[in-house]
Amino acid sequence: MVDNTLSRRGLLAAGAALVAGLASSGCAAAQGDSAPHPPTAPSAGPTPAGIVPARAPLAHTAIPEAVAAQYAAQQPTRWGMDLPGIITDIPAQGKQMALTFDACGGPDNDEINDVLVNFLIQQRIPATLFLNKRWIDADPARAARLAANPQFELANHGTRHCPLSVSGHAAYGIPGTTSSQQVVDEVWGNHETLTTLLGHPPRFFRTGTAHYDEVAVSIVRDLGEQPVGFSINADGGATFSAGQVQQAMAKVEPGSISIAHMHRPKSGTAPGMLIALPRLRDQGYEFVKLP
Ligand SMILES: [Zn+2]
Repeated sequence: MVDNTLSRRGLLAAGAALVAGLASSGCAAAQGDSAPHPPTAPSAGPTPAGIVPARAPLAHTAIPEAVAAQYAAQQPTRWGMDLPGIITDIPAQGKQMALTFDACGGPDNDEINDVLVNFLIQQRIPATLFLNKRWIDADPARAARLAANPQFELANHGTRHCPLSVSGHAAYGIPGTTSSQQVVDEVWGNHETLTTLLGHPPRFFRTGTAHYDEVAVSIVRDLGEQPVGFSINADGGATFSAGQVQQAMAKVEPGSISIAHMHRPKSGTAPGMLIALPRLRDQGYEFVKLP
């Protein structure tokens, strides 16, 4: 079991930049998930290790309107990045860990980090890529090339890049969705885009900013997608230096899920990962997609 609290706490203290602003369509973050934030506890209450029902069966035939109606009157009591029902690590066979990279999309966030992605391809390193709908729509052919590569699994990183709340809860000052219907829309808009792109529905979901309330977690699961968090904050919302990325990845343990970003080519993410990943492989780690 990875110690999520320790790995986050140390890394967030190292972050420097704050999320810069909001897009006109609402909810978009400038930097991406896991940008450094005030050193408050990430969730409203304690999250005991080992109780997350991460692999409980998901819905197979979701009806979005029915899911939105089912949760319309529910009031959330918890908010955070590691609530029950969100997977933050994987059941490791030996020294396995899962790399995840987010493409957040939106103004100034529609690029691809070619150095990073080409390195993964050349080194045959598998990864799970969380794509926002705006990032896909900015260059559908680019997304299709990633979809055609069996090294990668493409996952849902939301439609407008919103923290996922039924009551407008914010993360990093970014207002979240405000109702069960908005939660459904945030998931389902990109669910449909990815289903068309992939020929099958996406299996995994991560919100913009990686924050959820517990009602939203249930909604994502009822829509047939597994909510995903992380245990290693590898690039602080693409704000870390290459050295900070290496320090973060040095904390990888068997079963870790790392989060970093693939839409900021000028960030320290690629130079850090290009050193950290071979180092982990030399230590015997095997990189796997989310199982
Ligand atoms: Zn993001």
